[in-house]
Amino acid sequence: MLTNMQTRDVETLIHPYTNLAAFRETGPLILDRGQGVWVHDVDGKPYLEGMAGLWCTALGYGNEELVEAAATQMRKLPFTHIFGGKSHDPAIELAEKLKEMAPVPISKVFFTNSGSEANDTQMKLVWYMNNALGRPQKKKIISRMRAYHGVTIASASLTGLPGNHNDFDLPIAGVRHTTCPHYYRQAEEGESEEAFATRLAAELEALILAEGPETVAAFIAEPVLGAGGVIVPPKTYYPKIQDVLTKYDIFFIGDEVITGFGRLGTAFGCEAMEMKPNSISIAKALSSAYQPIGGVMIPEDMYQAMVDESRKLGSFGHGYTYSGHPVAAAVALKTLEIYERESIFERVRAKIPQFVARRAALEDHPLVGEARGAGMVAAIELVADKKTKHQFDPKLGMAAKCVAFAQAEGLIVRNVFGDAVTICPPLVISPAEIDELFDRLTRALDKTLDWAVSQKLL
Ligand code: PMP
Repeated sequence: MLTNMQTRDVETLIHPYTNLAAFRETGPLILDRGQGVWVHDVDGKPYLEGMAGLWCTALGYGNEELVEAAATQMRKLPFTHIFGGKSHDPAIELAEKLKEMAPVPISKVFFTNSGSEANDTQMKLVWYMNNALGRPQKKKIISRMRAYHGVTIASASLTGLPGNHNDFDLPIAGVRHTTCPHYYRQAEEGESEEAFATRLAAELEALILAEGPETVAAFIAEPVLGAGGVIVPPKTYYPKIQDVLTKYDIFFIGDEVITGFGRLGTAFGCEAMEMKPNSISIAKALSSAYQPIGGVMIPEDMYQAMVDESRKLGSFGHGYTYSGHPVAAAVALKTLEIYERESIFERVRAKIPQFVARRAALEDHPLVGEARGAGMVAAIELVADKKTKHQFDPKLGMAAKCVAFAQAEGLIVRNVFGDAVTICPPLVISPAEIDELFDRLTRALDKTLDWAVSQKLL
């Protein structure tokens, strides 16, 4: 039976990433307030937010400093755009701060409202740059299967998940997907991690040669694939991939929308993964999700090409009304200040051994094929047979079952493609709360196992 509020929801809202048919029966979990790593539903039941919302509320809930930063900026100047050369202090300061933090040489920052818009912008900037450089045929972008780069027409095309392409007539022309660097699923019998990385780099080179290197503009990658199931490439993967990209003069876009700002214990995920992108997409933890803001950080040579092209065309014809929104920029600036002042990234590094040990221990559970992750983000992949890695029938929705049991236990986690359950708590989670998270998840796994046994699935 749905409550009155749930019925009003079902009759009015379309929910993103939701089985719209099943949802009519189940209705939504309606959340009301939050404090620290906890959120409460409208009936007052607390949940440990094991996903930091959508990989984003890094500083947790109820951070008064962020609230104050927004209120102060709203009173002072709630909005001005930065089109046509106008500007404001929070956008300038934020861009300066980001340049200072950047793990690779960055010349300029372009602001967006989201990660999707950041990656959409990346694609446009690469095209714009290559037109400016007089190589209009060099336009294709290579992404990876199971990558997640967003849902706009271009960024959904870069995303390598069937659910984002099916029936949306995507991907668009000029986007290719290479093998996902998932050792557990993609490695051949007896292949070492090193040999696997070498093979994937060779596959990328073969794809580039088949397409024609003069037609391939860029390669895009998340340091650790997030929404595709928290997939951590082998150690030598990025150096090997980068050699191929350099050889064929292919621009490297790093998507740090999840891994940016401390998730792997470093300011940017690429620092932890030996990845050296030319440009970087950011969003989510940039403002700890207290305001929607994303951005693209680009190198000097790309900027110079853009200056030349806009001189020719009269204007750089791209920008969102809310690019560098002053309230979002002020909140992001405050977020970065808190990360630094409270040594949040160092404190994450100190908590990683406990988090990783608790994650790794889940691999002993009869339902868990792989418990993987890096830093303070993880996924467990559910399997019907640990030896053969055989999966359950996707129609059973085993990971979704586990997520529902977790919710009953007062833990919010997510199920993603490939029967995986993902974990990505706020960075400010305490050691006791890390234990609480994994205890609740273990109970949810046990209940999932009981259910599977009761249904004779094992
Ligand atoms: N890139 C990555 C790596 C992401 O994880 C996401 C969102 N999960 C996006 C891009 C898209 O961001 P948004 O939902 O803000 O458009």
